[in-house]
Amino acid sequence: MKSLRTIALKEAESRISPEVKAPSIKISEFYGSNVFDKKKMKDFLSKEVYEKLISAIDQGVLINQEEANHIATAMKIWAMSKGATHYTHWFQPLTGTTAEKHDSFFEPSGDGAIEKFAGSALVQQEPDASSFPNGGIRNTFEARGYTAWDPSSPAFLMESKAGKTLCIPTVFVSYTGEALDYKAPLLKALNALDKAAVDVCQYFDKGITKVNASLGIEQEYFLVDLALYNARPDLVLTGRTLFGHMSAKGQQLEDHYFGSIPERVFTFMVDFENEALKLGIPLKTRHNEVAPMQFECAPIYEEINLAIDHNQLLMDLMEKVARRHHFKVLLHEKPYAGINGSGKHNNWSLITDTGKNLLAPGKTPKNNLMFLAFFVNTIKAVHEHADLLRASIASVSNDHRLGANEAPPAIISIFLGQQLNEVLDEIEHSRISKKIKEDNALWLGIPKIPQILLDNTDRNRTSPFAFTGNKFELRAVGSSANSSAPMTVLNAIVADQLVKFKAEVDKLIKKGEKKDIALLTVIKKYIKESKDIRFEGNGYSQEWADEAAKRGLANIKTTPVALDAYVSEKSTELFVKTNIFSARELHARHEILLESYYKKLQIEARVMGEVTNSMIIPAAIEYQNTLLENAKGLKDLGLPKETLETPLAIIGKVSEHLGLLKTNIDTMLEERKRTNAIEDSREKAIAYDEKVKSYFDTIRYHTDKLEQIVDDSVWPLPKFRELLFSK
Ligand code: ADP
Ligand code: MG
Repeated sequence: MKSLRTIALKEAESRISPEVKAPSIKISEFYGSNVFDKKKMKDFLSKEVYEKLISAIDQGVLINQEEANHIATAMKIWAMSKGATHYTHWFQPLTGTTAEKHDSFFEPSGDGAIEKFAGSALVQQEPDASSFPNGGIRNTFEARGYTAWDPSSPAFLMESKAGKTLCIPTVFVSYTGEALDYKAPLLKALNALDKAAVDVCQYFDKGITKVNASLGIEQEYFLVDLALYNARPDLVLTGRTLFGHMSAKGQQLEDHYFGSIPERVFTFMVDFENEALKLGIPLKTRHNEVAPMQFECAPIYEEINLAIDHNQLLMDLMEKVARRHHFKVLLHEKPYAGINGSGKHNNWSLITDTGKNLLAPGKTPKNNLMFLAFFVNTIKAVHEHADLLRASIASVSNDHRLGANEAPPAIISIFLGQQLNEVLDEIEHSRISKKIKEDNALWLGIPKIPQILLDNTDRNRTSPFAFTGNKFELRAVGSSANSSAPMTVLNAIVADQLVKFKAEVDKLIKKGEKKDIALLTVIKKYIKESKDIRFEGNGYSQEWADEAAKRGLANIKTTPVALDAYVSEKSTELFVKTNIFSARELHARHEILLESYYKKLQIEARVMGEVTNSMIIPAAIEYQNTLLENAKGLKDLGLPKETLETPLAIIGKVSEHLGLLKTNIDTMLEERKRTNAIEDSREKAIAYDEKVKSYFDTIRYHTDKLEQIVDDSVWPLPKFRELLFSK
């Protein structure tokens, strides 16, 4: 039989890209055409209901039954005018992907069938929650969960050849009210942040009544030809290659980054960008990334809840559109050992309803005090809860980046750039209370902050959390992750920190301190207390690991241990106080994350066993047989003994690796059985890491050695050079 690899290679070679045509040359003419956005709301709703919906979006005002009916009808008319037949609540369960349950508008009625979409169906739907991860929150007899409309994220139309569906972004909660998704806690965290930030803003500007977190997500991904992908069971089932020797050429020539985009890839990019733009996802940037066949796209930043919905939708869209181009999108954090992995940089800032970015240094000293307040409180929050932030980005796949030999390190630190570091140092060492007696002199205590920061362009790429001019950039988020997890944590810890800040400042003011001095005093105190989290050097170096240990910063390399921070006393207090998670919800989430961790390792271990036993070992034996025949033939000819040396040496090498491979696979299987019997999830997850995963490298070492020895024409798996260099 011809091997799947050979067929796949042939197929990959003869690809022809489908024709891609934008609906119009000007993006502005079709941007958002599949979104029930403000413009369409205005067209399809009465003035009163439109205004009510806008205040629901902007201020969270509740919508009543009658208004919901009106909105649902308008949405239905719009969606049907675009060809939709069904609607669905669209939500983000803890599986990490998005979920949909479609219902048609169609309803039989007494005098013939009608198309109907009631307000109640817009507001709430009841998917069976029993098949989604719930961490033990629901009893099995109470399997119901419900999804509830999030008006702040607009409804949109999902198009496919077979039909169109109206999608309503929703939260997903259990019948007892506990969150079963990513969105519900995020919305709560944003609410807490808004309140806390507005309160602090009042010191500076009474006109500010709302603070929104903004987010711009840079998305890295790999592409691989679909046929080659399908010939790799490890890629299909685990999202990454469990085997494969690095190709002779990898990324060492640095010739891919920002290089010209291969035509076939370019066509795919334009195609998914068009689809994304129709859905109102403001994609702006596309380029090659560092590794071969690695790329990145980034939208313009948006309000954070919307930005995350858009990122989730984008990942989904990319995968769907890729099929048309016979590509597979790999969102896994580390599809190929030996070259760069993929992340999702989360660019975060705080923006007021007056249009001010609170993380942008201002023109005047007063503005700078405001900037410093938010800037320093963020640093302090991350210092206080670095472990929680670490937990929020932990996953089995991200473990291959964090703490492995790659960026960013598992140690959470903050990069500020030289100028801002100097500013903070100066404040730390100034003597506010003594030097400043009169109001005016206060400003002497605040160093000048240049509006344009040099480090904005000259950035340290090794830091997991970097300040980049007017925003913080969390780079440790995994490429496949739902950004809600880290963003819920970031916004929660900053909210909590701002509340504490305000309490301390108010206390000083009450004691008779002038407001600005009180602010600066607390800022100075925080700068001192959070100093250890700041690091400007090379985050990948051993020196930093040593230095961080001296400073007492955690360096947790694996997920099951990192996740402890979710249920620590400190985190529980934080989340309960800010009303984001109850202790029960935290435990459920912890449980789900641990389960997902060991289940994914379990799948990897199984695939490793299967592929080794049924594909790699047979190929090696086949080659060995050829060599044996060759040796026998040589011997039969009565040639001198030396002529047999080469085939015998190769046979020996193959046998050696085969033997070790088999032993290690078998031992791993034994360990896996033992580990599966462990009841406690945390213990089981740790055992999977220490006792099962620990065999992966050795097994891979031997298969990769065999790959280099065995006749190329019998090797069953597409090789790295084929996966990475056939464009
Ligand atoms: P890079 O980090 O690759 O140089 P950019 O600096 O251009 O990229 O921006 C990356 C992302 O940061 C983009 O999505 C951009 O819209 C977003 N961004 C820019 N300014 C802000 C801001 N103030 N708040 C949040 N995100 C921002
Ligand atoms: Mg970036």
